[in-house]
Amino acid sequence: MRTLLSEADLNEGVEKLASKIDDHYGDRPLTVIAIMTGSLVLFADLIRRLSMPQRVGVVQASSYRTGTTSGELHVDSAMMIDVKGRDVLLVDDIFDTGKTLDRLCGMMHDFGASSVRTAVLLQKRTEHIVNMRPDFVAFEIPDEFVVGYGLDYLDMYRNLPYLAILEPVEIAATAAELET
Ligand code: 5GP
Ligand code: MG
Repeated sequence: MRTLLSEADLNEGVEKLASKIDDHYGDRPLTVIAIMTGSLVLFADLIRRLSMPQRVGVVQASSYRTGTTSGELHVDSAMMIDVKGRDVLLVDDIFDTGKTLDRLCGMMHDFGASSVRTAVLLQKRTEHIVNMRPDFVAFEIPDEFVVGYGLDYLDMYRNLPYLAILEPVEIAATAAELET
């Protein structure tokens, strides 16, 4: 595995991300929603760095992936909190095709949010298939499959404190190991 962003890089990036969000909202109360499970680690670090009063909630989104390419999106909002009339910030790990955040923004509007913005740790330099772009981005990265700091492959590696590129041979090895 090749480290792309060290623990120190991530710390600095999240700190800057938090100040951009603080600058935008000031002291206005904010409803911050984690898109589970990938944003788990970022979310915990981010909300503790934001200064405004916050309501905190989660929503689950998963794309049925074959290997490492994105598939059909499934959203479970059973744990959502009330967002009616509130300013909502959606937090996700990575913006790849953009399908996840695009869909969830629509959903927050449907739930009656008065404004919806999005923050991500990573934005891939790739072809995004939706028109929207995240409002707050910590890092732009190349189009490689990455794990760590919340991001997984087959639910592994989320606990790594750094972000690493998982090479195709390592992807294959992880898959094979989990099959046995
Ligand atoms: P999108 O809907 O923007 O295509 O994809 C967003 C979701 O795909 C992310 O929340 C994340 O779960 C997953 N994803 C996209 N790229 C990567 C990657 O490089 N590594 C991992 N672990 N997940 C990714
Ligand atoms: Mg995700």
